[in-house]
Amino acid sequence: MKAPKLNWVNTLFLTVTPAAALVLCAVYISRHGLVWADFAVFFTMYILTGMGVTAGYHRHFSHRSYDCHPAVRVFFALFGAAAIQNSALRWCRDHRIHHHKVDRDEDPYNIKKGFFWAHMGWIFYENPQDEDFTVAPDLARDPLLRWQERHYIAIVGLVGFALPAALGALYGRPFAGFLFGGLLRVVVVQHLTFCINSLAHYVGSRPYSVDNSARDSWWLAFLTYGEGYHNYHHRFAADFRNGIRWWHFDPTKWFIQGLARVGLAWRLREYREEHILKAKLETQLKLAHAKLETAPAEISERLRVRLDAARLQLEAAFKEWEDAKARYRAVKRDATGRWAMARRDFEHAREEWRLRAAQYGFQFQAAQARWALLIAAVSRLHAGHTPPL
Ligand SMILES: [Zn+2]
Ligand SMILES: [Zn+2]
Repeated sequence: MKAPKLNWVNTLFLTVTPAAALVLCAVYISRHGLVWADFAVFFTMYILTGMGVTAGYHRHFSHRSYDCHPAVRVFFALFGAAAIQNSALRWCRDHRIHHHKVDRDEDPYNIKKGFFWAHMGWIFYENPQDEDFTVAPDLARDPLLRWQERHYIAIVGLVGFALPAALGALYGRPFAGFLFGGLLRVVVVQHLTFCINSLAHYVGSRPYSVDNSARDSWWLAFLTYGEGYHNYHHRFAADFRNGIRWWHFDPTKWFIQGLARVGLAWRLREYREEHILKAKLETQLKLAHAKLETAPAEISERLRVRLDAARLQLEAAFKEWEDAKARYRAVKRDATGRWAMARRDFEHAREEWRLRAAQYGFQFQAAQARWALLIAAVSRLHAGHTPPL
């Protein structure tokens, strides 16, 4: 196989910019100090270009996890380019291949080739298939992305550097704007988003699939605009959320929900809770079965039967709970409809479904506790040891 050819432009850019940003910022601060507006320009550009990559390049263009207004798409094309991570067309093509071929040779940022390769090493080399857009025919036809591709360098110059310099000029420090909102911000946003390809395939848990290296970690979500829930993302890539619970730190999800609230985004795709639960149970069961391979035959057979039964019970309890909650919501919504004809009937039905939903909720929790006990018993198993079951 031919050795990959070094891409000198990328290599120089990725090595010179961090050093230049550090030296120039240190010299500038020592001579002119820092003012609050410098932080403001940095964070404004940090948020706008970060959203261009995560909400735009990633969740909208690559995965089509929601639709949005043409003006929002233009914003993504402009500010995504200003993050200097390639044109949307090439970025999304690489990302789709990453999802389809994760952890294999074809994966552009294959973590199996090492942490540094996945983080940025892969960008140092020419891609022999750089003109192949087979996995992204929709994007290759998109007039906006073709326009961005043609004017990529000009957009980088104008939106990535001239805009923050102009913001700096507003308070009399154009060079500070260029330095903090342009150069330093490019380096910070690049490395934080590169962490999704390196750290998010390296550390963390795998609750939804153990078939690939993608991992979930809440702390990485703080550094990556919410993209730290990467195990979930690889399992359910079409979901517009990465952190699915309301307490999961996922500013990209909140940004998209904000757009939807003002009518600028729609058809936000979400996976149903029962599919998510199913994926979690399948993963735990897979790990449990692997563990049971090492246990004595009669123990592992007994545990296998109990695990299968507990899983079915858990899924059934969840479905009943979901149905009861849906009925309760439907009855409540119907308050102005036919139930309003007889107030007492409405109140009776509402109370009945509220209680049923609570009862099924308890049943689901009990089934969950039984499942967790069994999983814990299996994980404590080791060859030759017989658990008291
Ligand atoms: Zn990944
Ligand atoms: Zn993705």
